Amino acid sequence: MNNQTVVIIGAGVAGLSSAWWLSESGWNVVVIEKATDLRAGGYMLGLSGPGYSAVEKMGLLEVLQKHQYRYHVENNEYFNSKGKKIFSLNIKKIWGDIKILMLSRTDLVNELYTKTNQQKNIDIRFNCCVTHLENNSENIEVYLSDETVISANLVIGADGVNSQTRKEIFPLEEKNSREYLNYKVAAFTTKEVSGEIKNFKSFAEPNRVVELYPVGKDQSAGLYLWKDNHHSAIDTPQNTREELSNQFSNSHPLIKKKIVSLEESTPLFFDNLVMINLPKWSKGRVVLIGDSAHCLTLLSGQGAGIAMVSAYLLAQSIERYGIDQGLTDHEEKLRPVIHRLQERSRKLATWFIPTSKWSFNLRNMIVRYMPNALIGWFFLRAIRSDILAASLNEEN
Ligand SMILES: Cc1cc2nc3c(=O)[nH]c(=O)nc-3n(C[C@H](O)[C@H](O)[C@H](O)COP(=O)(O)OP(=O)(O)OC[C@H]3O[C@@H](n4cnc5c(N)ncnc54)[C@H](O)[C@@H]3O)c2cc1C
Repeated sequence: MNNQTVVIIGAGVAGLSSAWWLSESGWNVVVIEKATDLRAGGYMLGLSGPGYSAVEKMGLLEVLQKHQYRYHVENNEYFNSKGKKIFSLNIKKIWGDIKILMLSRTDLVNELYTKTNQQKNIDIRFNCCVTHLENNSENIEVYLSDETVISANLVIGADGVNSQTRKEIFPLEEKNSREYLNYKVAAFTTKEVSGEIKNFKSFAEPNRVVELYPVGKDQSAGLYLWKDNHHSAIDTPQNTREELSNQFSNSHPLIKKKIVSLEESTPLFFDNLVMINLPKWSKGRVVLIGDSAHCLTLLSGQGAGIAMVSAYLLAQSIERYGIDQGLTDHEEKLRPVIHRLQERSRKLATWFIPTSKWSFNLRNMIVRYMPNALIGWFFLRAIRSDILAASLNEEN
């Protein structure tokens, strides 16, 4: 036991991974989660490359592999707005020998929680928030909404893209930290009502794309992305359903059916597609990790993986160099990776969701007239360069 205490704000991917790694190094860990329970996300994510290795390092591979069966799909079929199939991709062939875990964010977070909660030196508090942070020279006094005060050696803000910790410690930088890609995204899983969503289906139009895919036998998930230059966040299921109904009123019947099946109690992810850029991730002994520090957006396909890598790296750097030098070392190692992945997200946005009719048609024409083997090669190459971009220099 090293008798040091860390307060981690947020029981998501980054927060729970950090809690586990620091508890392994002997820290006393307190995790503060504002929700009353683990947040259910309603979307599928893939862990490949460094994210996959981070799962292996934590000893979570076997247990996470058990959740994969529900996300087993053979083909990704692309349709235009009239429902005409543009092309179809054999997913297994594309992935080839790349190691990947496909599972829901909810399953990942639940398993991280189960593993973390088994550690004796971790205290996880739900329905709890930080009300105030007081930075002294050695310690940070953390005032909590449950009316306790913790004297911590380190505070980690792992409270996601809309981080309160970021606002608190970087009030000036926070104002310019949000880089909007001018798209909105909604994701949710509901009962499969149509019986038609047996494969991964993508419906593409200029300015928007919808992906529908099966989740086990009786559920299916929807991912809706559309161009929107207004950055207001709408966070109640009722408002989001209205927004989705308006946006997709003239689209394919399957897309509309899925929106209708959205109930008020359905866990829903809804937000702007936004990246976070900060000149520094720590101030004194408060550090941000995961989406709160450097949100990559879903376009990178690496946000959760990198959050887990960052948690591992941070604990390693602190163990090796102590807190102050450890924070610097962690940031120096991770920044080039974040820079590369954010650059890719910027470029991918216009390829994934072309905003003009001509660029949409051009993209489709390229893909449609490419021989199948070449399409497979093209996607595989893109995935491999995602993984390479996500790799730390020492792993390249
Ligand atoms: C549709 C979609 C698809 C994605 N696909 C992939 C993918 O294929 N691969 C991949 O690697 N990544 C993917 N991502 C990205 C990935 O989900 C995120 O990068 C990852 O979840 C970030 O983890 P985090 O712990 O930083 O934040 P989160 O997972 O958002 O966790 C933050 C936690 O902090 C809590 N919190 C918030 N505010 C406070 C507060 N004030 N006090 C206490 N607690 C608070 C929240 O309730 C939450 O539990 C995808 C994201 C989306 C939306």
